[in-house]
Amino acid sequence: MSLEVFFDPAAERHDTGPHHPERAQRLEAFAAGLERAGLSRESFLRPQHATADAIQAVHPAKYVGVVEAVCESIPAGSVGELPTGDTVVSHESYAIALSAAGGAIAAAETAKPGAPTLALVRPPGHHAEPARGMGFCLFNNVAIASSRALRASGNVLIVDFDYHHGNGTQAWVERALAGEERGLGFISTHAYPAYPGTGAFDESRVNDAGFVLDIPLPHSTDTDDFTNVWAQLLPLAARRVQPKTIIVSAGFDFLAGDPIAGLSVAARAVDSLCDLLGETAAEHNASLAFVLEGGYSLDNLRASGESLGRVFSSGGLTASPSARATLRDERLRKMVDEAKRWLA
Ligand SMILES: [Zn+2]
Repeated sequence: MSLEVFFDPAAERHDTGPHHPERAQRLEAFAAGLERAGLSRESFLRPQHATADAIQAVHPAKYVGVVEAVCESIPAGSVGELPTGDTVVSHESYAIALSAAGGAIAAAETAKPGAPTLALVRPPGHHAEPARGMGFCLFNNVAIASSRALRASGNVLIVDFDYHHGNGTQAWVERALAGEERGLGFISTHAYPAYPGTGAFDESRVNDAGFVLDIPLPHSTDTDDFTNVWAQLLPLAARRVQPKTIIVSAGFDFLAGDPIAGLSVAARAVDSLCDLLGETAAEHNASLAFVLEGGYSLDNLRASGESLGRVFSSGGLTASPSARATLRDERLRKMVDEAKRWLA
């Protein structure tokens, strides 16, 4: 098994100014971790830019035009802000956001059962709602890739373990399921309450078309509870949606030590998640594509890149880490029990 990586060196030119946590060194750190696991940077593939059609499957043309015009208007060497909210952009950010969406599409299209892929991209995407970029995100890379995968290959399960709620992805999934789409599921863990303020348990919806499942994590969530939630729910979520493709919003800011987040989850949780995702994909003979979202500690990104590389490229783990058998947090236990009833 070898992990195919999509990476555009131009991503470093998405300039967010000094002291911004979403910075170019993030991708360098993750790539260094992949190299430690034996992947060669020379093997990384450069994605094509997403086409207007692909972007507009999720984002209205008017919003895309606003992003293009705002970036175009910023002189080279300066930074500005998207008018829709808390997203710093620079002259080349529009083009680089098209490349990031293209990387996610390429990852989803290239992944085959037993041959996972990774889009090592920035800017991230999961906060970008159809008509509103926010939270460092311009276009929703995972929603764009999922929309195409759904049409091309059938059922899609979106897995989002970023510290922050993927409000943009959820907004697109809700819209898709209210329309014609079927066989689409979105499952997310995220700290709560935290930015962007959404993702309460009662936003979850499960019906015949698909589901949105939000598991808001108390700030006291530890490594075992985090791992245990996923171990209990991911297999059921996958059985419910019968995915052909599993697309992962892979944000590593859930790890302890992140400068803008605050859960106490240790790095071994990344190994557990990767193992579980690999097993779940295998159970359904599904393709598995990772798309980078958040994660702002360079040390954690390096370690996570190494974990991903080790699990999916170097013959897997020697011993799978095991979690406590039951959830310690009572609120989590109640949510997970109810979610299991919905998914059954
Ligand atoms: Zn995040």
